[in-house]
Amino acid sequence: MIRNSASEMASKLASGEVTSVALTQAHLDQISAVDKDVHAFLHVDTQGALAQAAAVDAKRKSGEKLSPLAGVPLALKDVMTQKGIPTTCGSKILEGWRPPYDSTVVTNLKKNDIIILGKTNMDEFAMGSSTENSAYGPTHNPWDLTRIPGGSGGGSAAALAAFEAPLAIGTDTGGSIRQPAAVTGTVGVKPTYGGVSRYGLVAFSSSLDQAGPCARTVLDAALLHEAIAGHDPKDSTSINAPVPAVVAAAKSGNVKGMKIGVVKELNGDGYQKGVRTRFEESLELLAAAGAEIVEVSAPNFEYALAAYYLIAPSECSSNLARFDAMRYGLRVGDNDGASAESVMNLTREVGFGREVKRRIILGTYALSSGYYDAYYGSAQKVRTLITQDFNKAFEKADVLVSPTCPTTAFKIGEKANDPLAMYLNDIATIPVNMAGIGGMSLPSGVAEEDGLPVGFQIMSPVMKDDRMYSVGAALEAALLSKWGAPLLSTIPALAGSK
Ligand code: GLN
Repeated sequence: MIRNSASEMASKLASGEVTSVALTQAHLDQISAVDKDVHAFLHVDTQGALAQAAAVDAKRKSGEKLSPLAGVPLALKDVMTQKGIPTTCGSKILEGWRPPYDSTVVTNLKKNDIIILGKTNMDEFAMGSSTENSAYGPTHNPWDLTRIPGGSGGGSAAALAAFEAPLAIGTDTGGSIRQPAAVTGTVGVKPTYGGVSRYGLVAFSSSLDQAGPCARTVLDAALLHEAIAGHDPKDSTSINAPVPAVVAAAKSGNVKGMKIGVVKELNGDGYQKGVRTRFEESLELLAAAGAEIVEVSAPNFEYALAAYYLIAPSECSSNLARFDAMRYGLRVGDNDGASAESVMNLTREVGFGREVKRRIILGTYALSSGYYDAYYGSAQKVRTLITQDFNKAFEKADVLVSPTCPTTAFKIGEKANDPLAMYLNDIATIPVNMAGIGGMSLPSGVAEEDGLPVGFQIMSPVMKDDRMYSVGAALEAALLSKWGAPLLSTIPALAGSK
């Protein structure tokens, strides 16, 4: 049962073949069996999840009309507030904090009767590409426990690949939904910026952060996307327009006559051989399904990484100033006579990890009056040029595509002391955030040289998220008929797993 897709689980719930309590319990059992090895979860809300499931079963019994995913369990990235449930953002500084309110994403999940199993591990404040920056220890990739599950949302992606949950929520500032999806053989979608509310998403870089669905199939991601998306007056950057029809697009999976643009700059040298082979093969399958493949160029993408590592740290240096030892979580050195400043300093020294400190220092420097124009100002100009590159490319193509990441999952520890090597993982995902457009990663097979999953990225224009779902569904169907079974059915079994 736990190996079904979320939509298969939803049909079984609707027909009465299974109850939500039984389905939720099966996932809690899987978490008990495998999470000591995987470490996808920071907090499991056993009682809360079972109580929510029992309530949904009762509603169904009484004949109430329920939403498509009612009763299906989900794992929530620990950067989203859920009332009364510990929320750490993978940081020591928030240890023990229980938010007094629900994020809008959680409100929407609850409205749709989706069962929240618990909170998933992540790089501290979503800064990282491997989940090794969590203050609570790394998450392990279910394909090979010695490897990283991607980051920052490695916990959410690993929970899907280990069959601990069929659905998960991620957030993506520079790739944190798509890169973990790619290296775990799962599906991850960053919606158009403003498509899903940021209210209650603990801010890293507010102009880039976006929550989105993580799942094992394109249709499941679409169902979750529609459940969490929509205008929210509590988020001033939320888009007041109808949610793109992503479920209809995922169901039709039609690419006939569509123009698919291959971004010249996001392929080639620096991309692992097996990643390139899988990418080329996916292009052939899309062409066979009736799409026209064209080449597009985006010359300014070369500067995207450099500009991102000025903009994101600048915004984080301002956003993280709220962790001042007075309002949330940890407080250190609060002895008689201690000044507020010394408590603040000691708390931040102990509470923040190395990467977070590095970025706060970088951002504070880039925003300082003498350097503002040279660094932050220039980065903002580059951001505009990247958006213009996308606009031009979308004149030639309906969607753009690339490999999601240059490599498959690397070993835990391999890049932990080399921040630049770590940053390079997001070379193909960052441009999407800079322009605020939509991006999806779906599995395109395994690399021949190491047998590890490879991700295929699809990018669609602002509020045309439905297009990436059409292409994703078409590719997923073509790959499925080639493989004969979903990619995750070939994952090595975890000890204790059913
Ligand atoms: N890996 C990138 C970073 O460290 C992106 C993180 C994210 O999307 N939250 O900033």
